[in-house]
Amino acid sequence: MDNHHKVIIIGSGPAGLTAAIYTGRANLNPLVFEGIQPGGQLTITTEVENYPGFPEGVMGPELMDLFRKQAQKFNAKTLFQDVSKVDLSKRPFTIYSNEQVYFADTVIVATGASAKWLGLQSEKEYMGHGVSGCATCDGFFFKGLEVVVVGGGDTAIEEATFLTKFASKVTIIHRRDQLRASKIMQDRAKNNPKIIFLWNSEVIEIIGVTENGKKSVTGVKIRNTKTGEITNLKTGGYFVGIGHQPNTEIFEGQLEMNPTGYIITKPGSTYTSISGVFAAGDVADPIYRQAITAAGSGCAAAIDAERFLESQH
Ligand SMILES: Cc1cc2nc3c(=O)[nH]c(=O)nc-3n(C[C@H](O)[C@H](O)[C@H](O)COP(=O)(O)OP(=O)(O)OC[C@H]3O[C@@H](n4cnc5c(N)ncnc54)[C@H](O)[C@@H]3O)c2cc1C
Repeated sequence: MDNHHKVIIIGSGPAGLTAAIYTGRANLNPLVFEGIQPGGQLTITTEVENYPGFPEGVMGPELMDLFRKQAQKFNAKTLFQDVSKVDLSKRPFTIYSNEQVYFADTVIVATGASAKWLGLQSEKEYMGHGVSGCATCDGFFFKGLEVVVVGGGDTAIEEATFLTKFASKVTIIHRRDQLRASKIMQDRAKNNPKIIFLWNSEVIEIIGVTENGKKSVTGVKIRNTKTGEITNLKTGGYFVGIGHQPNTEIFEGQLEMNPTGYIITKPGSTYTSISGVFAAGDVADPIYRQAITAAGSGCAAAIDAERFLESQH
């Protein structure tokens, strides 16, 4: 059958491209759909300091180019295309992309999860230059600075608490006058002397400068949700902590998911609710969400897929 592949990988972040390296080296000639963000989330950041093997750090886009090159070396074919629809109800599985149909004996889902943003133009402008959606990833760059965290749920409190290890002061900016976070998280934040709260407030713009070609955040413009009053707050960093959205729309009603839309895998494996379909990386991981954990589970998905294919013969 034309367009029939042993392994189709959907997504080209650390999970998808690691799965491509492993299935490529296992002579399975994987086909990778890279989607609208080739290389995944790390392509929108600057320096990555915690990916093992790069003691001097590495730029996110450069790291992902290396992943891709390594996958292509082992005959992985990568297409800069988005998958619009899948039919996982029968084998071979059917994948639709650019009005073409592809068939697969196994599918590795590695479509990631995106941090939710407020949607401000200035968030995009200063992304990786003082704007971040991940304290674990970027907190280290904010040593001794005052930073703000937007949100009022568990994510915001977790980010803020983590940031107090580095920042001199963390201001949580919340639209309402009380938090949605669990009681235990709230207590932890309220008892932390480095955390202060700015209630009934929303960020309407991030303010920054460009000096010697380098961008940095210097403040945020805030609107009081009760009075409408607009004020400026000085800050060296802006973190958004309003949650993540897994990219799983095209699998809805087909793969088992949790209420937020994360794909559920069988404990200790990458098996999904459909035999022959595997999930790796942030799309199945509401907890760690790191490049190295995504790459690790991409490797596991490749091995699971390879063993599954062997068991079918
Ligand atoms: C600003 C920022 C900085 C970060 N810094 C660090 C850091 O320093 N260290 C660290 O370890 N982690 C960092 N992270 C987290 C890290 O990027 C993620 O944990 C990791 O990229 C997850 O990898 P993934 O392969 O699961 O998914 P992603 O990297 O999200 O990749 C998802 C892929 O799926 C594709 N896709 C989605 N839908 C479709 C579709 N329908 N069809 C085809 N393809 C599709 C996308 O195009 C993309 O290629 C950072 C994240 C952000 C946002």
